Amino acid sequence: MRQWREIKSKHRDALVFFRVGDFYEMFGDDAEEGSRLLGLTLTSRNNGAAGRVPLAGVPVKALDEYLARLVKLGRRVAICEQMEEATSSKKIVPRKVVETVTPGTVLSGQLLEARRNNYVAALAVAVAPATGATRATGPAGPTGAAGPTGAAGAGDSPGDPSLPVGVAAVDVSTGETTVVAAVLGELEEALARFEPREVLVSESSQALLSSAGHGWAASGDDSRGATGAAGAAGGSAGGPRAATGGPSAAGVVFTVRPDWTFEEETARDELVRRYRVQSLDGFGFEPGDGLLIRAAGALVAYVTEIRPGASDHLLAPRVLRPGSFMTLDSMTRRNLELVEPLRPGEGDASLLSVLDATRTPMGARLLRSWLLAPLVDADAIRRRQGGVAELVDDSATRASLRAALARVRDLDRLATRIGAGRGSPRDVLALGVSAREIPGLAEAGQELGSPALRSLFDGLDALEDVEALVAEAISEDAPATLAEGGVIREGFNRELDELREVRDGAQEFIAGLQTRERENTGIASLRVGFNKPFGYYLEVTKPNLPRVPQHFIRKQTLTGAERFFTPELKEWEEKVFGAEERIAQVEESLFRRLRQELVGAVPRMQRTSRRLAELDVTAALAEVAEAQGYARPEISTGFAFDATAGRHPVVETMMPREDFIPNDLLLDEEGRIAILTGPNMAGKSTVLRQAGLLQIMAQMGSYVPAERARLAVCDRVFTRVGASDSLARGQSTFMVEMNETASIIHGATERSLVLLDEIGRGTSTYDGVSIAWAVTEHIHERVGAKTVFATHYHELTQLGDLLPCVKNLNVAVRESGDDIVFLRRLEEGGADRSYGIQVARLAGFPPELLARARGLLAELEGTHSSGGKGLGRGRDAPKTPADDQITLFDVEHPVLDRLRSLDPDRMTPLEALAALHALREMAE
Ligand code: ADP
Ligand code: MG
Repeated sequence: MRQWREIKSKHRDALVFFRVGDFYEMFGDDAEEGSRLLGLTLTSRNNGAAGRVPLAGVPVKALDEYLARLVKLGRRVAICEQMEEATSSKKIVPRKVVETVTPGTVLSGQLLEARRNNYVAALAVAVAPATGATRATGPAGPTGAAGPTGAAGAGDSPGDPSLPVGVAAVDVSTGETTVVAAVLGELEEALARFEPREVLVSESSQALLSSAGHGWAASGDDSRGATGAAGAAGGSAGGPRAATGGPSAAGVVFTVRPDWTFEEETARDELVRRYRVQSLDGFGFEPGDGLLIRAAGALVAYVTEIRPGASDHLLAPRVLRPGSFMTLDSMTRRNLELVEPLRPGEGDASLLSVLDATRTPMGARLLRSWLLAPLVDADAIRRRQGGVAELVDDSATRASLRAALARVRDLDRLATRIGAGRGSPRDVLALGVSAREIPGLAEAGQELGSPALRSLFDGLDALEDVEALVAEAISEDAPATLAEGGVIREGFNRELDELREVRDGAQEFIAGLQTRERENTGIASLRVGFNKPFGYYLEVTKPNLPRVPQHFIRKQTLTGAERFFTPELKEWEEKVFGAEERIAQVEESLFRRLRQELVGAVPRMQRTSRRLAELDVTAALAEVAEAQGYARPEISTGFAFDATAGRHPVVETMMPREDFIPNDLLLDEEGRIAILTGPNMAGKSTVLRQAGLLQIMAQMGSYVPAERARLAVCDRVFTRVGASDSLARGQSTFMVEMNETASIIHGATERSLVLLDEIGRGTSTYDGVSIAWAVTEHIHERVGAKTVFATHYHELTQLGDLLPCVKNLNVAVRESGDDIVFLRRLEEGGADRSYGIQVARLAGFPPELLARARGLLAELEGTHSSGGKGLGRGRDAPKTPADDQITLFDVEHPVLDRLRSLDPDRMTPLEALAALHALREMAE
């Protein structure tokens, strides 16, 4: 226990897996937490005078399975091994933490999702040391727990949204390293494309970052989170520590690192050392990039500490500037269902699942990252399109490329594991198998001419030497681990071949012994066998024991038989064992030498892997484009979004092809804003999302589901969905909806595409209509973004007449008697009614209930349309709404007239006060 306590004190933020024989044991709080998270039985261990200590353990054999679960839950685990064989003496075996496993730094295939990157990110903030005082509030208070409420109170938080932040992200398993400049107010957007599992922050920026309170911020929703945060704020002992042990809403674990690792000097040194360069200029860092360097340096230092081998093979950092790709915040990502469905359990309906026809894991990861960070440079988009187009047209080449790619394994991660000295025999074999496909790929691609594809094939390193080396040395059926033996191929090493001959010869001799001894003894059932602790034996059943000859020596007694050996058997057995021991040694040293030799080729493997990934994505996009009947969108640098016969790429796959009704949508300077009305279920949300998906697909270089499309490049796509439509997020408050809308108003430009779906629905009708109205006016007058606003408030259609660049569209329905038929067709003009009662009828409401609703509706429409000045009063000549529309602000009162007559600019304070008194009197 003393040994454990000492180790635990150095790994307070991790669960310590303490090796005891065939188990990893957890003690104390670790045991309680571990048993809860893993469903293990919690026992206790009598610790003498110190009392009883909680205890829980997992079998060594099942380590990977339990690690995978803990890592998924956002926990870090310190694996503490016995450093010597346990002996019978009372001496305590020395133990040491040999590895720390954290969600952001895992390498083992079992702990990683093959088809997505696994990023660990670091944030460096320009923070004055004086903010220390605010630290006391900590990240885990009740306001922190709600996440977005933090953003609501941004006004009184210390985090100025324009504060610059350096963001660095590394996928340790593939070596990819990216640095991006961001601002505090848009941190969430900057991080979203990486979907990091773990985020490093410095001790002093911790409070500031969590007070910025974005969706990704620490949730602190359980006691563990709270204690984690308290612990981290309290001490400054070296080593990484978790801010919230628990997973936050976004499944991110925060790791608090000492401030000094984020200092610019230290960070710069770390990068220079790690990348063996003289200066960082070659990576694209510029003079003002202190924060980027600090984030990258702190991150690389952490990776080096946790995964020393892997950090040798990190790829050179890519420095991205704001505006070098399309920003997609997590709300947009979720609402457009880019990588996963909005509501869990709805199969796998996402844009990614429709587009992902990739054949390799690295291709799948690259596709995902293209999707989460579309391009904004028209030429770059066209270049990608050119590659896709060539493979759409040349389906024969596409087929042969894809067939070869299907046999290529995860070259990125194989390279990393081999580089880190962890590659198993299977990994090395997989490397060889993959390399074998490359010459064929190169040949298939020979004739391709588009610049995008040429750049992948020209100078493609086919890794022939690697392939040859592996093919020569590694057996075709190499086992998963070295210990199983049979890794090195026959004919590779003379000594090994001879040893194997000796072993095989001896085994054969022993096998022959059965026949010979049966003849010698006359015991027909005599049998030669082998088992682990006892070795080879001759087995004779009880009834035959009297016939056993003198020179048989008893070895083991069973219920029905006795086992013997003979001096001769012993001699041959020793030959086998001796050969086997030596074989294991030789195999191990040969394998290690081979792996070491391969380390030199790791950067080449990484480069080839990048190219194959891109080839795979390009071919996959071409495959989907052809299979789904997509068209190549024309990328324009103008303003308009113009799609003819567009379809929703995901919804169309969920029904027979001909059932989906395509629609045209044009948003140009004269009609920038479309108010999209129509009853519930008409298809408004589908049309709206369709626009966003087409835009994103186009900018990632893909074809789009439309007959024809001409799309201007957008800087961002914003998608917001009214509160009651996003219940699945478990935060269906009106506040959230308003926060989200506010961020559009601040972030959108005239180059953005804004998609608002039923904004304002989370409150009363009048509130909702008013807010929606004002938001539309604001976007129209101040922002100038292309906007689609889907709403069932038909009142908003008046905006189409009031504002020059707003037009009305509706999703048509046909009324036939009491029923409505959904036509799913987009038409000019606004819907005149909400058809709520007809929809209720379709849903099977009983006739009495429908009749009552109809009566109430008539009554309400009667009372509200009487006064009739309508919406938009005070603005230029609003159109009187149709009689069946509900209107707002039709209240008249003498107070209002009086108020209108006041001119505050010409009143003295005293007059103002008097007027106020008078008004109040009138009101009463
Ligand atoms: P709204 O937002 O108007 O309430 P939705 O866009 O959610 O309606 O559409 C409701 C359902 O109608 C969708 O789930 C889909 O099954 C179907 N639908 C929508 N648009 C189309 C279309 N263009 N063609 C065929 N079916 C559609
Ligand atoms: Mg809808």
